[in-house]
Amino acid sequence: MSRLVSIVIPIYNELDNLDELVARLEAALSGFEFEAILVDDGSQDGSGARLYELAATRPWLKPIFLAKNYGQSTAMQAGFDAARGEVIVTLDGDLQNDPADIPRLLRLLEQEPEVDILSGWRKQRQDARLRRTLPSRIANWLISRTTGVHLHDYGCSLKVYRREALAHVRLYGELHRFIPALAAQFGARVKEVVVTHHPRRRGQSKYGIDRSLRVLLDLLLVKFLARYVQRPIQFFGGIGMLLALPGAIILAYLAALKFAGESIGGRPLLLFGIVLLLMGVQLIGMGLLGEILVRIYHEPAGRAHYLVRAHPRQAPRRDA
Ligand code: UDP
Ligand code: MG
Repeated sequence: MSRLVSIVIPIYNELDNLDELVARLEAALSGFEFEAILVDDGSQDGSGARLYELAATRPWLKPIFLAKNYGQSTAMQAGFDAARGEVIVTLDGDLQNDPADIPRLLRLLEQEPEVDILSGWRKQRQDARLRRTLPSRIANWLISRTTGVHLHDYGCSLKVYRREALAHVRLYGELHRFIPALAAQFGARVKEVVVTHHPRRRGQSKYGIDRSLRVLLDLLLVKFLARYVQRPIQFFGGIGMLLALPGAIILAYLAALKFAGESIGGRPLLLFGIVLLLMGVQLIGMGLLGEILVRIYHEPAGRAHYLVRAHPRQAPRRDA
């Protein structure tokens, strides 16, 4: 197999894991043409310096040193931006994911031309049950329901992507867990595969329970992006019409009364009608502005707002 594989790993204060990580990557991927992009996310424990040393004698190891701690998503994005492989693999740098799983996943992707993303499922998860595993179960259920991309384990970092599947994914904030859902919006197909998971043996987890709440807001954002970023006028305009129409009817009714000689100046209904109409018109205007923004977003970068794949989808069988 001669396709280049890029391994992307965010590293934040993982000094005690680095040597073993690099050794295990080397061992696991010896049969592949690969590069490993280890992104030092502003570590303060000397991980960056160690990474630099390790890379000196290993041409396949390509470190990136971020200027400060940006967070896992941005570190991953920096890795994606540098990755040149046709296939991109992500995993954590703390050895909770097992590099030994990678060859199996790569072969699986090879065998499944219909699949664009293989997403790891830590079926036997080795994290604190109450604090981590339970909240994440709820989150996975919710994300699956809301996005329509059903996965048991959005949070697993071990994932394999065809390069094209990531072409439209830009990770801001903490969106890395949503990549399958974001990519699926562009037609990428996701399959879940059970992977090994180990307890963290060295270093500390960077997250606590507060992450669960932030996931909810991110989910709202992802849902919004999915449904409306391609057609904001339908969203804002829809709500706008819903408000403006009753507003206009109320005002027309009051105008008729006025012409009939009644005084309408003191009626609460007047204010209500005006507010509805104004809000509605504003929202329609926002929808139109949104349409302009979407065009500005896609066009200057020469970015297509659609995804093209290398092979046609297999035709349904006709012999039945
Ligand atoms: N990480 C990072 N930047 C951060 C936090 C974490 O690059 O600000 C990396 C971290 O070094 C690890 C991965 O992201 O490789 C997952 O972090 P962690 O193991 O702490 O998360 P958990 O497994 O506890 O969910
Ligand atoms: Mg971890």
